[in-house]
Amino acid sequence: PLDRLARPELLRTDALIGDAWVTGNARFDVTDPTTGAVLANVANLGAAETEAAIAAANNAGKAWRATPAKQRAAVMLKWFQLLNAHADDLATIMSAEQGKPLAEARGEVGFGASFIEWFAEEGRRVYGETIPTTDKDKRYLVLREPVGVCAAITPWNFPIAMITRKVAPAIAAGCTVVVKPAEQTPLSALAVAALAREAGLPPGVLNVVTGDGPQSISIGKTLCESDVVRHLSFTGSTEVGRILMRQCAPTIKKLSLELGGNAPFIVFDDADLDAAAEGALISKYRNAGQTCVCANRLYVQSGVYDAFVAKLAEKVRAIKVGNPFEAGTTQGPMIDEDAILKIERHVADAQAKGARLVEGGHRIDDRFYAPTLLADATPDMLCAREETFGPMAPVFRFETEEEAIRLANDTEFGLASYFYSRDVGRIFRVGEALEYGMVGVNTGLISTAEVPFGGVKQSGLGREGSRHGIEDYVEVKYLCLAGV
Ligand code: ADP
Repeated sequence: PLDRLARPELLRTDALIGDAWVTGNARFDVTDPTTGAVLANVANLGAAETEAAIAAANNAGKAWRATPAKQRAAVMLKWFQLLNAHADDLATIMSAEQGKPLAEARGEVGFGASFIEWFAEEGRRVYGETIPTTDKDKRYLVLREPVGVCAAITPWNFPIAMITRKVAPAIAAGCTVVVKPAEQTPLSALAVAALAREAGLPPGVLNVVTGDGPQSISIGKTLCESDVVRHLSFTGSTEVGRILMRQCAPTIKKLSLELGGNAPFIVFDDADLDAAAEGALISKYRNAGQTCVCANRLYVQSGVYDAFVAKLAEKVRAIKVGNPFEAGTTQGPMIDEDAILKIERHVADAQAKGARLVEGGHRIDDRFYAPTLLADATPDMLCAREETFGPMAPVFRFETEEEAIRLANDTEFGLASYFYSRDVGRIFRVGEALEYGMVGVNTGLISTAEVPFGGVKQSGLGREGSRHGIEDYVEVKYLCLAGV
């Protein structure tokens, strides 16, 4: 698929440090999850190159923070336009290395680009304050300054958007960044970085250090332990988030963490069932179930249980699994064998504990997993506790609103949640009772650049997107002027 890029030079395989594309002493393979074929051979860097990238970011920081906000915004808007102009190529690269259907990849390019546009605008509104004085000889001022050098470690499920959502607020605020993209999807990251350079982003403002799985650990360690790096933003598993948080403790680094979820999706008796089934389909099966806001547990009130399961089953049957580049495909391959093994474990466990298989429940051609629906799920099943991260929906039955809330909150995670109801009182009660950073009411799709994305409990720290998304990259400085 990578042979048909309109601009083949967007296919970069070297890392970006300062103004240099770095080949490194070793390389690693990036594979196509659809076929297993090697797509490219990418620079496999380590601690030394990471130090060089941190130094490049630090050197660039002085001039970048002094660049007027409006000028920073102009460069970012150019970058935004370039992402849109090359959306087809970026989507092709993304589908090739990640496996999501081309139309979905095209959607992610637009979504990813939207963070650049949004934060280019927000960067011009990082206002300071003046505070009424308590002493007639003194004046109190609050400056809001860039944090400094930032690091971002990103996952493979949204190879572009998870980068722009971190990099855009950072550079809009006047920070410089070192990104370590996921080892499965470095090509999207490098293409986006190439377009940043083309847009006129000065060397060193954005650096991309690539590495395979083992090297990612040493790159991560270097970023965490550096006292030049002031902030780390990470999206990925809660387990790795804990490791990074621990590694950042000695340098008291600021942290933004977007970690795992275990999203409940509740359908009450009074819901619009067609809308609920459609919302469940989108929320659960998008990106083959590989998003941290995917519905993981479907709770359906007993009065509409059978009807809902039947409606959802019909939609699940209509999912077209196949090559992401074939027109009409709505579900591509799973990212790797481990991803499939986890779904298989959850399905086998659920069936052993009494769940009823309604749809799917098996692999297709080794790299794909059939869209799966399980009814009669119970709280003792693995799928009630862990994120399946695949196209499998377990449906639980409940009787009362209190029970639904209790079951929904019975997890250490608190990222996204969803419920369907048409009763305005219930919408407020349940919306307030759910211990989650995000609640979708009568919708399965909630993400956009304008809103605060993030979790509570063990799902993370901080918010991305919205006017809040830039705050993690801004320090408050108090200036006390005396002798007035
Ligand atoms: P996933 O399960 O989605 O692959 P991970 O949390 O394992 O999520 O990975 C997300 C990102 O974190 C990737 O860029 C990966 O390379 C990186 N990563 C994984 N383990 C470590 C680690 N010990 N230190 C630093 N980065 C890591």
